[in-house]
Amino acid sequence: MPPLDTSRAALSTLDDDERLFRDTVYEFADREIRPSTREMDEQAHMPRMLIDRLFELGVMGIEIPEVHGGAGATFFHAVLAVEALSRVDPSVAVLVDVQNTLVVNALMRWGDDHLRDAVLPRLARSAVGAYALSEAGSGSDAFALSTRATASGDDYILTGRKLWITNGSEADVFIVFATVDASAGYKGITAFVLDRGMSGFTVGRKEDKLGIRASSTCELLLEECRVPGASVLGEPGKGYRIAIETLNEGRIGIGAQMVGLAQGALDHAVRYIKERKQFGKAIADFQGVQFQIARAATEIEAARLLVYNAARLRDAGQPFLTEAAMCKLFASEVAERAASLAVNLFGGYGFVKDYPVEKLFRDAKIGQIYEGTSNLQLQTIAKQIL
Ligand SMILES: Cc1cc2nc3c(=O)[nH]c(=O)nc-3n(C[C@H](O)[C@H](O)[C@H](O)COP(=O)(O)OP(=O)(O)OC[C@H]3O[C@@H](n4cnc5c(N)ncnc54)[C@H](O)[C@@H]3O)c2cc1C
Repeated sequence: MPPLDTSRAALSTLDDDERLFRDTVYEFADREIRPSTREMDEQAHMPRMLIDRLFELGVMGIEIPEVHGGAGATFFHAVLAVEALSRVDPSVAVLVDVQNTLVVNALMRWGDDHLRDAVLPRLARSAVGAYALSEAGSGSDAFALSTRATASGDDYILTGRKLWITNGSEADVFIVFATVDASAGYKGITAFVLDRGMSGFTVGRKEDKLGIRASSTCELLLEECRVPGASVLGEPGKGYRIAIETLNEGRIGIGAQMVGLAQGALDHAVRYIKERKQFGKAIADFQGVQFQIARAATEIEAARLLVYNAARLRDAGQPFLTEAAMCKLFASEVAERAASLAVNLFGGYGFVKDYPVEKLFRDAKIGQIYEGTSNLQLQTIAKQIL
């Protein structure tokens, strides 16, 4: 019999490098993010200084090769970073998530040498990225987008309006989807790499949100914005493939965000119930409470295994479409339940802003909406089964 590979004893077994990386990110989040989560939430703002610290930590270009200034690590490392950050603040986690699992990922996979050489070092060093697919009229039906890209010599002229764009306030690099030929349907969709400040390109209104309030969500306005042909990512008409493939991977990152959030809520609840006394003893001593905690911990472990499995399949180059949809679907439901339980167990204190769990309860909701709603994940899973 071949020797047992103990390094992979369980899906959740981390090698030394992965464990050190995760712990470093979590310690950073605990030390440098936790003290300001409430203020960032109230002000709906993420200070640039914190974003600079994320670059210094090396979590903004996790998969970017070292020659381009990145960490040269794996997608799985990105998932670990998102989970660890989200355990403290899901808003900061989504900034890192979009940067790595969507923007860097799309550029690494689809960018030609020129684009990779020009953009990846910036993303690794100091530039935040954003990914702009959705519009007012096209969310779940993303390929019904109406932003137009009209060829003009070697350039394209982009006109349209994007909505709901994460990192809009902070980003310097934007991947923007537009159609070069509306009559071609999804086959006209093309991805462009734009810079903030280009003539005809402005970042518009920022949304005032229920949760993940420190993460910016903005409208983008394209008014006859002229971009060089060299800014096409991949090929004209291949944008739909780029969107489908990157969002399949991005979904795993959102699963990780939701697992981290759920774990953070459980951490708070466990600490609180050991301290809070009613009927002459800690509320953690009541079996009714213990069983609720046990169930939440079980669900979180199951969600984590789904997320890790999807991420490891992706890194191994194996199909992961269904697994990614399942992990996002399940982890976002688990996060909502865990955050809700934490609010319940904090009693009245769970309902006020002096304690951290009401924020996590609000933050959890987004997991069922962005990067494909829960219904769309169910549709993907059902299609594979039926
Ligand atoms: C905070 C935030 C950040 C975001 N960040 C980004 C970003 O960075 N980039 C980006 O491009 N987009 C982003 N989005 C947009 C997000 O991906 C969309 O909101 C999401 O895909 C849903 O689209 P919609 O809002 O148009 O809802 P709709 O598509 O109108 O859906 C409304 C409801 O109808 C249901 N539904 C729709 N079609 C079907 C169907 N066929 N079967 C069953 N049910 C269906 C949905 O499940 C949902 O419950 C963000 C959104 C938010 C709120």
